[in-house]
Amino acid sequence: MQPLIFAATCDLAGKVRGKAFPAGDLKRRLSRGVGWTPTNVQINCFDGIAESPFGALGDLLLIPDADAEVRSDFGSVVEHFMLGDIVTLEGEPWELCTRSLLKSALARLERVADVRLLAAFEHEFQLKSEFELEGEAYGRTGFEMQRTFCESLTSHVAAAGLSTDSIMKEYGSNQYELVIGPEEGIRAADAAVILRELTRSTARHSGEAATFTPIRDPASVGNGVHIHLSFLDRNGNPATFDPDGPCGMSRLSGAFAAGILKYLDSILALTAPSVISYLRLTPHRWSAAFNNLGFRDREASLRICPVTTKDPTAVSRQFNMEYRAADAAACPHLALAALVHAGVQGIEEGLSAPVPTEEDLSLLSTEALNARGFVRLPETLEAALGKFGANATVAGWFSEPFVQVYLAHKASEIAHLAGMDTAAKCAAYEMAY
Ligand code: GLU
Ligand code: MG
Repeated sequence: MQPLIFAATCDLAGKVRGKAFPAGDLKRRLSRGVGWTPTNVQINCFDGIAESPFGALGDLLLIPDADAEVRSDFGSVVEHFMLGDIVTLEGEPWELCTRSLLKSALARLERVADVRLLAAFEHEFQLKSEFELEGEAYGRTGFEMQRTFCESLTSHVAAAGLSTDSIMKEYGSNQYELVIGPEEGIRAADAAVILRELTRSTARHSGEAATFTPIRDPASVGNGVHIHLSFLDRNGNPATFDPDGPCGMSRLSGAFAAGILKYLDSILALTAPSVISYLRLTPHRWSAAFNNLGFRDREASLRICPVTTKDPTAVSRQFNMEYRAADAAACPHLALAALVHAGVQGIEEGLSAPVPTEEDLSLLSTEALNARGFVRLPETLEAALGKFGANATVAGWFSEPFVQVYLAHKASEIAHLAGMDTAAKCAAYEMAY
């Protein structure tokens, strides 16, 4: 058997695509990559091809990155892949490469605020077993039924150089959650992709199937992706916490949080990018429906998380904020790029820290909400795309071609679902993610 390495990109659809090459060619492939086609970026999550400015023209290279390598032994087969960057034939980052877009957002953060980002992704997913496991929310029995799967998954996660914080049987039917530790910069988004792929592979190799679809059953809970954010200064010291700041936020993190909330309705199309993402982002589902900051409140878009220590040094390392309006239809690199840009924009604009809410915002009228600077987040993908496409500041963070291509990409996804009822849409996304 000839071992193959799969060079991969996580694209606009949040799908991991690429090409495999013989492992013996690795040295050459690390510099020359594999050939890639511009119009591939317009393949949507249902394999339809959206209107593409490139047509049949052009060539690109997908260059695998040795720092984003996964080699997982599943006994009968070794899954070996590397995430990479898409570059032009001249070697310049391609303007639609999600990894390169995140790199440039992170560079802006360093330039403007002289800090580096730490991020940890929490993922919820469901096993599509024939057996519906009900009544086992956070249950030990529910966990035991998949202990072998959980141990196998966390072993593969460890072999990929990532650390498991915790794994559990979540609230929903057959729903599990895996939380990994924080990683720095680009590695954090790579880790999210790796985690999703290893979860799917582990399920597949144990005769199961896993789905990260944003929501399987509109009558129940969704599968969220919660992104924990904190900062390190140039000496590697934590820069997120200030014991005298509002809710413990440093000036930097207060402005960053305010930027995210100010631009949230315009970046939502990048962090919650499917049609059914908006079934999840409704009040009383412990997801996110308004652009509010919550102090330990799981219905807020941005939540200040609790710290579990009194030691001041440990507190400042542990302190972080959690973005909850994301799901796994989103490419982690794009979602993180949007959050970083919005946060840095808040720093540049000198915004002051948001005031946390402590009540149920769904009980307020639109006027009362708006008077306090809150909005109900877009309630459909179309509305979210409308906000994204119309916000000149947000467009300025990315390139104009990126915005146009993204809007066309999502239009084709929406068109694919036209005429389907909600159950059929959920079924389609369950297959895709
Ligand atoms: N399932 C919820 C979501 O869609 C999150 C529940 C929790 O707080 O873990 O985001
Ligand atoms: Mg959870």
